[in-house]
Amino acid sequence: MAKRQFKAESKRLLDLMINSIYTNKEIFLRELISNASDAMDKLYYKSLTDNITGLSRTDFSIEISVDEDARTLTISDNGIGMTKDELADNLGTIAKSGSGLFKADADDEKAAEDIDIIGQFGVGFYSAFMVSQKVEVLSKAFGEDQAWLWTSTGADGYTIKEAERDGHGTTITMTLKEDTDDERYSRYLDEFELRRLVKRYSDYIRYPIRMECTEAKLKEGTEDEYEKYKEVKVLNTMSPIWKKQKSEVTDEEYANFYKDTFYDANDPLLTIRSSTEGAATYTALLFVPAKAPMNFYSKDYEVGLKLYASGVMIMENCKELLPEWFRFVRGLVDSEDLSLNISREMLQQDRQLQVIEKRLEKKIHDELKTMLRKDREKYEQFWDAFGIQIKYGTYADYGMHGRELSDLVLFRSSFEDGKYTTLDDYVSRMKEDQKYIYYACGETPEKIAQLPQTELVADKGYEILYLTEDVDEFCVRTLFVYDEKEFRSVSDDDLGLETEEDKEALQKKDEENKNLFQAMKEALGGKVTAVKASNRLKSHPVCLSSEGGISIEMEKVLSQQMNADNRVKAQKVLEVNTEHPIFEKLQALYTDDPTKIFDYAELLYDQALLIEGLPVEDPVRFSNLICDLM
Ligand code: ADP
Repeated sequence: MAKRQFKAESKRLLDLMINSIYTNKEIFLRELISNASDAMDKLYYKSLTDNITGLSRTDFSIEISVDEDARTLTISDNGIGMTKDELADNLGTIAKSGSGLFKADADDEKAAEDIDIIGQFGVGFYSAFMVSQKVEVLSKAFGEDQAWLWTSTGADGYTIKEAERDGHGTTITMTLKEDTDDERYSRYLDEFELRRLVKRYSDYIRYPIRMECTEAKLKEGTEDEYEKYKEVKVLNTMSPIWKKQKSEVTDEEYANFYKDTFYDANDPLLTIRSSTEGAATYTALLFVPAKAPMNFYSKDYEVGLKLYASGVMIMENCKELLPEWFRFVRGLVDSEDLSLNISREMLQQDRQLQVIEKRLEKKIHDELKTMLRKDREKYEQFWDAFGIQIKYGTYADYGMHGRELSDLVLFRSSFEDGKYTTLDDYVSRMKEDQKYIYYACGETPEKIAQLPQTELVADKGYEILYLTEDVDEFCVRTLFVYDEKEFRSVSDDDLGLETEEDKEALQKKDEENKNLFQAMKEALGGKVTAVKASNRLKSHPVCLSSEGGISIEMEKVLSQQMNADNRVKAQKVLEVNTEHPIFEKLQALYTDDPTKIFDYAELLYDQALLIEGLPVEDPVRFSNLICDLM
């Protein structure tokens, strides 16, 4: 029979698995057990929704057995099974979520990174190849008469042929690899070792995992072990981790559960357990990951919590349970109030679900707040991973949730050379005469600190928030105030610093130089809406500021998002430092011959653009102008 080939990405993944440098090979067991458990969940769920009689939850189980002579380890379930097509589809391609990520070549250095990818997506079934030279899958789908045998020795493809099997379900038989110096594969034939592994990784599986200990094996153990294992044939305690008393579960067990269930190689940053009764009865087990998953900012990422109705999973990713700004939270909710037959459409309107969502939202918020208060370092780690999502929340829905989320927000600031601060801390440090919360935008704290626009505010000894991310300015502009203090950009026309005399003096300067400024504006041909005397510059000759609702930073962000036709432009103002030596020159030139200042106006404008981190419009002309002057 001709061998079928694996789909391209699967093949590459399979290569990785077979030649795995992954140290934690033993996880293949929990992957296969978890697949078996899913298959039984599916059938049980079907039996309830389709009213199939003759299937009882207590009939489901997973059987493990070994044959030392044949070097085989077998895992069998009586779940929903697979048809011939399903065998080809499910085991011939890698889980959809991971596909496309395995394009790079499989040199060894790369492989280390790939393993990380494997950790992230959980490759499930394929992990069997880390320990096996041959894998056979005998399966009969529920309701079918014919069973099928899928066989593969790895990368060279697989075969499927007709076979016999009693009843529905799947039996996976692995012929283990020969032992090497680095790995004793035969340890997976050791019943005691298998018991330990099941206990460690799969204890919470809600169906019994059974294994008969052979008499010979029993005799190898101590007397205690003999007695214990003779009796105990079910290896797991079967109670889902979220149903246990808090005190019964260790942090490590929660972390393991998280890693297994959500395919993350790292421990969660935060684990939240919450149970309530009353208006809604539910248990929730939630996790905040330590890092954003690789696909977090892509549309591949599936938002939502697993939803259980009285212990039966009814939905893999229930989006309705999380607000958009907490979309990074993973976990599950188990509620007695939900019906098993509930459809997606009905769920959206389900009042019970809305109550749960509101409570979870509050709970997550409170827990994050506690972390911020008690473990700042950890919170900053969280913020680096998911802060953008929270900031996004402050301006989503027209800023409806801005106020409630603002106590979670961190910004970098000038207070400690660009370290993070909360808005509360900023306000508590405000000087007595300080009216506004000042902010400045730029690429990095270092670059912002150098901006001419910050000089005046910094000189006053006022703290400046450093907004380094695209979403930041949208966030502060939508928040508008914090603790009754308005946010104010250092580029704003009115910084609230000038006395009446200052203002008058400035006006006078504008008056005196009216013609010069007008000529400069004309020279710039519509690039700026005004040229003005500046009161915020100390050592720099010029800077740009903006009038109207769109700032220069926002223009940068928006122009990346929109196509060239409907670009939004900030109304730019060129501010001139009339105390700067350059200005005297300008005045002299202008008096001599007004046309002489045209080139200078352009140069100064280009300089201001560069300082802002904006591109000069005509670099060649810019360079020629400089050469001419030199
Ligand atoms: P995942 O479990 O992440 O979807 P796997 O590679 O582990 O990825 O499995 C691929 C698919 O094969 C599963 O989604 C499931 O449909 C099917 N499958 C795997 N093991 C079993 C099993 N024991 N019984 C029925 N179907 C299974």
